[in-house]
Amino acid sequence: GRGRAERVGAYRHDIRRPSPARLPPMTPSRTYVLAIDQGTTSTRAMIFDASGEVVAQDQIEHEQIFPRAGWVEHDPMEIWESTRRVIGGALGKGNLNSRHVEAIGITNQRETVVVWERATGRPIHNAVVWQDTRTQAMVDELAADGGLDRFKDVCGLPLATYFAGPKIAWVLDHVEGARDRAAKGELLAGTIDSWLVWNLTGGGEHDGEHVTDVTNASRTMLMDLRTLQWSEELCEAIRVPMEVLPRICSSSEVYGECTPGVLAGTPVAGILGDQQAATFGQACLAPGTAKNTYGTGNFMLLNTGTEIVESENGLLTTLCYQLGDDAPVYALEGSIAVTGSLVQWVRDNLGLIRSAPEIEQLACSVEDNGGVYFVPAFSGLFAPYWRPDARGAILGLTRYANKGHLARAVLESTAFQTRDVLDAMQADAERAGGRLTELKVDGGMVANETLMQFQADVLGVDVVRPKIAETTALGAAYVAGLAVGYWSSTQQVEANWSEDERWTPRLDRADVERMCRNWAKAVSRTLDWVDEDVD
Ligand code: ADP
Repeated sequence: GRGRAERVGAYRHDIRRPSPARLPPMTPSRTYVLAIDQGTTSTRAMIFDASGEVVAQDQIEHEQIFPRAGWVEHDPMEIWESTRRVIGGALGKGNLNSRHVEAIGITNQRETVVVWERATGRPIHNAVVWQDTRTQAMVDELAADGGLDRFKDVCGLPLATYFAGPKIAWVLDHVEGARDRAAKGELLAGTIDSWLVWNLTGGGEHDGEHVTDVTNASRTMLMDLRTLQWSEELCEAIRVPMEVLPRICSSSEVYGECTPGVLAGTPVAGILGDQQAATFGQACLAPGTAKNTYGTGNFMLLNTGTEIVESENGLLTTLCYQLGDDAPVYALEGSIAVTGSLVQWVRDNLGLIRSAPEIEQLACSVEDNGGVYFVPAFSGLFAPYWRPDARGAILGLTRYANKGHLARAVLESTAFQTRDVLDAMQADAERAGGRLTELKVDGGMVANETLMQFQADVLGVDVVRPKIAETTALGAAYVAGLAVGYWSSTQQVEANWSEDERWTPRLDRADVERMCRNWAKAVSRTLDWVDEDVD
C-alpha cells in the first residue's frame, strides 16, 4: 500500500489526524476510540472514552450458513457491510463524527478465513468459520505423518480442524482455478481482521493494507511463535502459498488510515483476536494473570509474559499481544467448544426454557444435580482432551431425575469443563513458576450467579467479575488507543479495571472432589464414540 514506509513503527507518538485544512475551527472537546467487534453471530461497533466507559454502540447480526453437517459459513460481504453500518450507527447514536474518533481497533472471531480477489475485493468463497470441520480429512492426513503434535514445536498448536491455515488450503483446492490465480498474485487470504482492515483502508480500489496481527496469525498453524513470521515449512506442509498471506504486524500500531466513508482519515491502529482482546480488556497484563470468557464456548487465557510455555497438558501456546516494537507477550489457552451454546440447545432443541437466563430458575428448583452429569461433546472435546471422536452424553440418570436436575447438570458442565482447563493450566503454570489464585471472568453466562458460585466452589479459587463487562471490545479499543497516544501507557488500562463482584469457594472440598470424580467418569464414557466409517 501507499505510504507504508511512513507508517512502519508509527507507535504511540505519531497521531495521525485529518489534515488541518479539513478541520472546522473548533476541534471537539472530547475524543474517543472506536472498536469493531466482529463476532461469530454479530458485528458491533463500540465507542469508548478514556475511562473505558461505553459512549455509544450499534450491533447487527449476520446469517449463519450451514451447507451440510459440520460445515459453518458466513458471507464476507455481509460482514463488511454490517461493519460499515455499525460504525455509522454507533457514531449516529453518540451524535459523533470522524473528528471525535482518534483511532479504530478491531477484534474478531478467530480462525475464520476469507479468500478474495485483490483487484475487486470479491470473495471467491464464503468465509469458512472456526467451528467448521471440513478440513478433518486434511488434518488426519497430516497427522498420519508425525502425529497430532507434529507442528506444535513451531506454532504451539496441535493439529485440529479448529485452526485457520488448512481452511485457506481447502478453499484454494475447491474453487476452480484458485491455486493458479493465487500463484499469479491475484488472490488474498486471511482471517476476518485482515478482511476488515483491507476493506477499511481502501480495498481493491485504493490498494488496501493486507495485514494481520500476531494474535490472529498465531491461530493459523502457519506462524512460527519465535520469529513471528510465516513458517515456510508449515506453509508448504499445509499447502498455503505465502503470496496470499498478509504481513504480520504487532497488535498496536497504525496499519493504515480509513479511506472513503464516515471515518475517512482515521487511523486503524489495533488488532487482537477476540479472546486476546478480552484478556487485554480484563487488564491481564502481568504474567500469571488469567481470564475466562463464558460465551458460546469458553476460553481461558493465562498471560505467561515474554516466555513461550509449551503445554504438557493439552493447552495451546498462543500470542497474548504485542504492543508496537515491544517484546511479544505469550499466553496459554484452554478452549472449550460448548458452554453457553448448551443452554441455547436446551432452549431451542428441548424447549425446557424460553430464554437463556431461565436456566438459572430451573436449576434452582432442585438442591443438587441428583447424580446427573451432562458432557456436551457435541462436536468432540476441545481442551484439554482434544478428542474429535467424543460425542455428547447425559449420565447418571435414575427414575428420580427431573428437568431441574438436567438444568443443573447443564450449568455444572460449564464449571467442570472449566475446572479441567484450570487444572491443566495450574500444572503448566507451576512449571513456569506460578499458581493462579483468582480467575477474572466475563461473557454472557457470568450474569448467572448460581453458576458463578458453583464455579468458585469447583475451582477452589475466587471468581471475579469486573465492572466493565465489555472486555472484548474494550481490549481492541485499548490497543488502538495506545498506538496513537490516546492512552499513554498500560498503567491506565490497569487503573480502569475495577471489581464488580467476587465469589469465594464455600462448598465442602470432599463433596467437590466426589463430583469431580463423577465428572471425569462421565467424560470417559463419551470417548471413542464416532467410528471411522461414519462421517
Ligand atoms: P458470544 O459472544 O459467544 O456470542 P455471549 O458472551 O454473548 O456469547 O454469551 C451468550 C451465551 O451465554 C449464550 O450461549 C447464552 O446461552 C448464554 N447465556 C446468556 N445468559 C445466560 C444466563 N443467565 N445463564 C446461562 N447462560 C446464559
